[in-house]
Amino acid sequence: MSTVAKVKCYSCNNVFEIYLQERNLDAELRCPYCLKDMEEQSKSKLFSAIGVFDELNRDFRKYSSDRSENLFQFDLVTVENPIDFDFLKR
Ligand SMILES: [Zn+2]
Repeated sequence: MSTVAKVKCYSCNNVFEIYLQERNLDAELRCPYCLKDMEEQSKSKLFSAIGVFDELNRDFRKYSSDRSENLFQFDLVTVENPIDFDFLKR
């Protein structure tokens, strides 16, 4: 298994992928289609989030194989038209 972040660029509406193994903190991160740069602090936060995400899923797999715990794996997606979560606030 491998963690990959899908990033949508709203300048050109394309989606590109960032593999955890490929992340390079020193290199600039830019959309491969329209070459717009991602700002440095945002890039750092993005790589940090990918790392946390990957680590948790790895831990789930490890606990499952080492301690026979139930296996969970999670994904995050951004939806353009979220359902109404107002009921959670009541
Ligand atoms: Zn773009």
